[in-house]
Amino acid sequence: MKKQTLLVALGGNALIRKGQVGTVEEQFENLMVPVRQLARLSRDYNMIITHGNGPQVGNLLLQQELSRDIPKLPLEILVAQTQGQVGYMIESSLDSELMALGIIHQKPIVSLITYVVVNPDDPAFLNPSKPIGPIYSKEEAALLPFPTRETKKGYRRVVASPKPLTIIEKREISKLIHMGFIVICCGGGGIPVIREGRSFCGVDAVIDKDLASALLAEEVGVDLFVMATDVEGAMIHFGTPRQELLHRLTPAEAEQYLNEGHFPPGSMQPKVEAALQFVRKTSKRAFITSTSSIEVSVKENTGTLFVP
Ligand code: ADP
Ligand code: MG
Repeated sequence: MKKQTLLVALGGNALIRKGQVGTVEEQFENLMVPVRQLARLSRDYNMIITHGNGPQVGNLLLQQELSRDIPKLPLEILVAQTQGQVGYMIESSLDSELMALGIIHQKPIVSLITYVVVNPDDPAFLNPSKPIGPIYSKEEAALLPFPTRETKKGYRRVVASPKPLTIIEKREISKLIHMGFIVICCGGGGIPVIREGRSFCGVDAVIDKDLASALLAEEVGVDLFVMATDVEGAMIHFGTPRQELLHRLTPAEAEQYLNEGHFPPGSMQPKVEAALQFVRKTSKRAFITSTSSIEVSVKENTGTLFVP
C-alpha cells in the first residue's frame, strides 16, 4: 500500500519554551521532543516538516540593531537565514535519531529554502500588524525608519502578514517526497516574494507559518496535516474557568467558533483557519495538538481533530 504523507508544522515551543532565554543547547534539547516522535512516525509515513522562526528572526534583528557598522539586511534575507539555521538543527537532530533507530539508509533528509508568493495588492500591506523583533521605548520608536505599534511588552516594529498564494518549490517538494526524502521546508512561513514578470522579488513581510503550511499541504497533496504547539489543542473560553478543549470539529463548527471570537489573531486563529482551509479544500483530516503528543495524536486522534 502507498504510504500516506504527513505534514507537521512545528510551533515556536519546539525550539524555545516560555521562560527560556533560548541558548543553542536549550533549542537542541527541546527539539528532541518532536524529533523522537517524527523519527518513529517516518517509518510509516512520508514526511514534510515546517517550522516557525519568530524568536530566531527576533534575535537576528536585535543583533543588527547592536552592530551599527555592518550593513543591515532586509527581512527576506533574515527569514532565509533562519530557514538555514532551524533547518540544520532539525535535520541534524532527526538524522541522529534515525541513525539511533537504524533507519537512516531508507530516509534521506533535505532542508529546502522556500519562497512563497504573495499579492502586492494584499490589503495586509496597507495595515502592517504583525509585531517582530526588539522592544523599543516610545521615544526610540518615533525615530525608527519603519512603522511600529504599542504592544503589551512595549513598542515593536510591525510588518504586513499577507496571505500566501502559492509555494514556489511545491513540485520539487512533491518529487522529493515521492523519492523517499523527509523534507524540511517553508520555515517561518517561507520567504515572501512577489512576481515581477518572470522573476521574483523578496518583500518586507512575514507569512503566517500555519497558513503557509496548510497551503503547502494542499498543493503537494498531503494526507494528514498536524500543527504542533504548546497547548493540547484549540479551546473555547480559553484562559477562563469555562475553558474546554475541542476534540472534533466539522468546518461549520470551526467557523462558528471562529466567528464567536474564541481564537485570537496571531496565535490560535491562524491555526484554526489553516486547518479549516485544508480540510475544506482536500476533505482530509487536520490536527492541532501539543508538541509532546504528535505521535499519539496521529495514531489515536487526540488533540483537536478537524474532519471534513
Ligand atoms: P506556535 O508557535 O505554536 O504557532 P502560538 O503562540 O502562535 O504558538 O499559538 C499557541 C498559543 O495560542 C498557546 O500557547 C495559547 O496560549 C494561545 N491560545 C490563544 N487562544 C487559544 C485557544 N482558544 N485555545 C488554545 N490556545 C489558545
Ligand atoms: Mg503561531
